[in-house]
Amino acid sequence: MPFTPATPSLFRDVSGQLVFLGTGTSVGVPVVGCVCPTCRSGDLRDSRTRTSVVMGLPGGTLLIDTTPDLRTQLIRERIERVDAVLYTHDHVDHVYGLDDLRPICFAAGRPIPLLCEERVELRIRKAFDYAFSTDPPTGGGVPKVVFERIGLASFDLLGQRVVPLRLRHGPSEVLGFRFGDVAYCTDTNCIPDETWPLLEGLDTLILDCLRPTWHPTHFSLEESLAVAARVNARRTLLVHMGHELGHAATSAVLPAGVELSYDGLSVPLV
Ligand SMILES: [Zn+2]
Ligand SMILES: [Zn+2]
Ligand SMILES: [Zn+2]
Repeated sequence: MPFTPATPSLFRDVSGQLVFLGTGTSVGVPVVGCVCPTCRSGDLRDSRTRTSVVMGLPGGTLLIDTTPDLRTQLIRERIERVDAVLYTHDHVDHVYGLDDLRPICFAAGRPIPLLCEERVELRIRKAFDYAFSTDPPTGGGVPKVVFERIGLASFDLLGQRVVPLRLRHGPSEVLGFRFGDVAYCTDTNCIPDETWPLLEGLDTLILDCLRPTWHPTHFSLEESLAVAARVNARRTLLVHMGHELGHAATSAVLPAGVELSYDGLSVPLV
């Protein structure tokens, strides 16, 4: 007989799942001041906060990036704890919600590990100088975090093997990550030669796709579809979308096996 708790938890169990906290580009969708069909859409899938996911790994909950929407994302998805944060890169839409980790740190009673490359650590130390000051602000507290440097070597995190994937994002080098047969590749417009072999045999590919037309730092829809076809995962989910990609209209023209993600979507970790 399965055990049934008398009172269901207020919080969500994300074990074995990847949950899309946000799927939008850096300005979010709707875009402030825009009246295009996507920005005025009544379809909830057209409402996109900044791109991020959480994953329920064997040893705890992993958050990838801390977007400026982090607080509302965690509340919306009823996520109560984060055991580690992994960063893709140092752009504002992936970093500037770090302060929203404060209640998570208070509850954990210990610093939250932030795993990132050097450039991300330098950005965070500069942008959140009060959190690292010898004279911290009075009241309210600071996000208590501890940096752990990562590179291109695989590592174990929360009971899961993580394979970093070098990606290019215009002039920047950023990281994607592979967890088993699931890969997360946001904020990229070029997959370097050395990374392609690491994308073989995927079940689920989560892939950057900004808009229909070319962009200097993100894949266009055509470019994303070409990558999806080459990787040939069972399922490809597009993320980091702008308002040029309305959910229903774009979904209608995607090939089999490719879908637009949306805020709140969850997929199994395989
Ligand atoms: Zn971004
Ligand atoms: Zn718009
Ligand atoms: Zn970026």
